[in-house]
Amino acid sequence: MEVVKTVGAMKAWVAGRKAEGRSLGFVPTMGCLHRGHLSLVDRARALADDVVVSIFVNPTQFLPGEDLDRYPRSPRQDLESCRAAGVAAVFMPEPEEMYATDASVFVDEAALSATMCGRTRPGHFRGVLTIVAKLFNIVRPDTAVFGRKDAQQAALIQRMIRDLNFDVRLEVAPLVREADGLAMSSRNRYLSPDERKKALTLSAALEAARSAWSTGKSDAREIRGLVKRTLLEKGGIVPEYIACVDAESLTPVARLAKGDLIALAAVIGRTRLIDNIRLGEEDLS
Ligand code: AMP
Repeated sequence: MEVVKTVGAMKAWVAGRKAEGRSLGFVPTMGCLHRGHLSLVDRARALADDVVVSIFVNPTQFLPGEDLDRYPRSPRQDLESCRAAGVAAVFMPEPEEMYATDASVFVDEAALSATMCGRTRPGHFRGVLTIVAKLFNIVRPDTAVFGRKDAQQAALIQRMIRDLNFDVRLEVAPLVREADGLAMSSRNRYLSPDERKKALTLSAALEAARSAWSTGKSDAREIRGLVKRTLLEKGGIVPEYIACVDAESLTPVARLAKGDLIALAAVIGRTRLIDNIRLGEEDLS
């Protein structure tokens, strides 16, 4: 497995593989890899000849006061996991390698990024789209695999691929949960045992919604009410938002149908968590 630190070396490696006619699958991450990330690697391996994983804690997607400085990092373990998963190359640049000190071009999206997480994290998706566009230009993947854990991010990347004519196929992989239902996230390690117990309410509330929907309830307002009540009564949680939306356009729906998303964000202690379900789609554990 190749471990690559510079843009130039990554581009050269990619050119070599392309010259051999090999297709590339790409999994961008911020590291501290868990089974959720590794499920994306498996998916990429099934779809392409070689898999590239990037590990980069992208400073431009953190807002001032967010957890950039304490974001968990485990580079040695991550490399071990990638090697075991059959990854061909890991791209691990330093921030200075990725951004010129006077960088002044960014990718801004004007509709989908204004809702849900974009409301409470203004500028977050601008950072995400900018780094993903840069990584797409460096790695030139045939297929990029993202997780439905970040459903809004996936919708935004699909939109960017369309609107900026990237030659990349996006694959959105299922959300991977712990056995007790908690959506896997690098940020889960911030949680104290008590907070973790509380955090289980997020998936429990979404499961309550899924089960109400599967027994015929489709009124989005009613389902949002059910999620809101469950969060409050079971966990004392007042969420940042609960959204019932179309998975591609992220526009709110009045009646929930197969394929729609129910997504939420909540702060537990000092940790901001997101979770979602897609109706008619199974999560993995
Ligand atoms: P991150 O390292 O948090 O930026 O995530 C990198 C990629 O892994 C993104 O496409 C995420 O959606 C995906 N991912 C993170 N957690 C999970 C999970 N629990 N299940 C599926 N994909 C995930």
